[in-house]
Amino acid sequence: MKKISIRLFTIFVFIFLLLSESVIFYTYYLDSKKTTENLLQENIKANILDLKHFLDKNLKKDNIDELTTYLDNKVNSNPLFDDIHIISQNKKLLYTTNRSAHQTHTNIPCKTISQMKHSNMYTQRCYTFNIRQYNRLTPYYIKCNVYLDTKYLHKIENKIDTFLYYSIGYFLFFFLLIWFVVKYIIIHPLEKLRQFAYYSTKVPKEFFISELESIRYSLNLTFKRLKKEQQDLYTLSTKDSLSGLDNRLNLIEKTKWLIAKDKRSHEKFALLFLDLDDFKNINDSLGHEFGDKILQHISKRLLKSVRENDIVARFGGDEFVVVLPDIEHHNTILEVVQRIMQEVSLPIVANSLKYHVTCSIGISIYPDNGNTITELLKNADIAMYQSKNRNKNNFSFFTKDLDSAVQEKIKIQELLIKALDENNFQLFYQPKVDIKTNKIIACEALIRLVDPDEGIIPPDKFIWVAEENGIIIPIGEWIIKEAVSQIKKWQNTTLRDIKVSVNLSAIQFRDSNLLQKIDTFTQDINRKNIDIELTESVLIKDFENRLEIIKGIKKLGISLSLDDFGTGYSSLSYLKNIPFDTLKIDKTFIDTLYTKDDLTFVNMIIGIADNLGLNVVAEGVETEGQLQLLKEINCEQYQGYLCSKPVEPKEFEELFNKILV
Ligand code: C2E
Ligand code: CA
Ligand code: CA
Repeated sequence: MKKISIRLFTIFVFIFLLLSESVIFYTYYLDSKKTTENLLQENIKANILDLKHFLDKNLKKDNIDELTTYLDNKVNSNPLFDDIHIISQNKKLLYTTNRSAHQTHTNIPCKTISQMKHSNMYTQRCYTFNIRQYNRLTPYYIKCNVYLDTKYLHKIENKIDTFLYYSIGYFLFFFLLIWFVVKYIIIHPLEKLRQFAYYSTKVPKEFFISELESIRYSLNLTFKRLKKEQQDLYTLSTKDSLSGLDNRLNLIEKTKWLIAKDKRSHEKFALLFLDLDDFKNINDSLGHEFGDKILQHISKRLLKSVRENDIVARFGGDEFVVVLPDIEHHNTILEVVQRIMQEVSLPIVANSLKYHVTCSIGISIYPDNGNTITELLKNADIAMYQSKNRNKNNFSFFTKDLDSAVQEKIKIQELLIKALDENNFQLFYQPKVDIKTNKIIACEALIRLVDPDEGIIPPDKFIWVAEENGIIIPIGEWIIKEAVSQIKKWQNTTLRDIKVSVNLSAIQFRDSNLLQKIDTFTQDINRKNIDIELTESVLIKDFENRLEIIKGIKKLGISLSLDDFGTGYSSLSYLKNIPFDTLKIDKTFIDTLYTKDDLTFVNMIIGIADNLGLNVVAEGVETEGQLQLLKEINCEQYQGYLCSKPVEPKEFEELFNKILV
């Protein structure tokens, strides 16, 4: 049984069924043939006995008509009888019911009634009996031959045979049908099932019955594997592979569900958007593998800091989102936020390195700061940026003001891109005045964005945005080119000696071709006519490199001014190391100049500048009083509304010529 293939087994079953069916039918066939034969025998026997009885009684009588009518009737009424002969002792045919046929009948062998039982009814053609008669007490015998209708008998036999053939044919057809049905409904699916069951291993050629057990086992394994794969897939689609936290998709799903729930119950929840501070530096300096380890540590700590039903998800990169359901007080949020910040900032030891990580968090609250997950995420992100701006390692709640600031920033970004495209920038010029002679000797070029729809937008509003997204680099190039073109225009006028100061942003130093560009742009002018203003912020990063560029600018013959002096780090070492020509005292020191006593700091700066051989420009001079005080301490130049605010070139020319006169 073990080694019988399914195909062979099915064939055996079919042959067995076919054989048993054949035996049953053949037996039935023989039986019905016998029964019919018996019935025929009975019928013939009864008719012959009836005939014998009639002849016994009536043969003596001379009523020949009655006799012949009886005999004819017998033949006509019984389809089994073909003919009846009455034959005399000397074998003379006395009477026949079918006179035309007697010739053929006479040679047919006849059997007696007693032999009937042992003869084959279907082949027997004639029966005979004697009727004893007396001629004056001398008996003599008259013979009666009864001829059967063999055609009719064959017909009956054929009918039974035909029934057998039809039955066999029908059952053969029926079995063939069953065979195909079994093959296509049972064997084929079983075969497929088997292929499927063996899908990871080699499928054996023959399909044995014993395999059904291994198929069951294999399918069992397959189902278990499928279940595991299903679970893995679920984890893959809902969890972040690195941290094991919920992924972005799952976070969105869960928060959507929370929104639907809290909408009904009028409850609040908080969404915390968390970004690690300076994570890029870790990745860049210590490698991505180390970065990944840090992310895993932070993920564990986040889970540790929150309650069980809080949602913690990795949003991507070094961004995480924590959702705190059922918030009753702001205090609950504050507690969690502080716990998170504390946990995150604990030192992390990985690869025998100790590292401190901090994070910036932005918080939005449902439904106060948004009704959808998109809004809540966006607003928490805005608040997070606010924390970054507040020196990082901080948290901020989203406010409407924050939102309008962000909207404003987005609008300005669009205006900047448009302005670059449509040339909507303009340079204004503000005079720098020689305090002793009261004459304009220089000016500062200050940019304006003149939007056709929004009007004039001052630089305070857009420079920082341009710096943040890097647009300041192409804008800065335009400023230099524009200033140079203005200097050229003034070359053959009274303004030929004027020095034009151009502000250079720290971000422009990220452009590795800065020096080369300045060189190219200023080819066609006397570089004595141009000055570059820098703030200390330029030197916070990448000091050595930038110092080289600054020295390069100086080498080109362009003078340098240190802008907003006194407001930044104001390290005196800058002044020693960098070849500045001018110090610009920031407006905040001038604003507070009312009496001589207020001059201490400005005086000190002038002293230092004198020692280093630098010019001094006081910025933001608005009053005659301020000017007088500056005059007293020998400040060389001033810039401020007292003389003029920044104006368009034409107006500047008029102003210059007026004062000149
Ligand atoms: P800054 O370089 O310190 O420019 C001086 C600013 O003080 C100018 O403002 C000027 O209009 C303003 N100011 C001058 N005198 C007075 C005064 O007496 N009273 C008052 N209240 N203000 C006075 P502005 O033009 O709005 O520029 C603001 C800042 O925008 C500049 O400060 C500079 O940091 C930046 N900026 C302006 N133009 C450019 C530029 O072309 N390139 C770059 N990178 N930055 C620029
Ligand atoms: Ca300036
Ligand atoms: Ca300034």
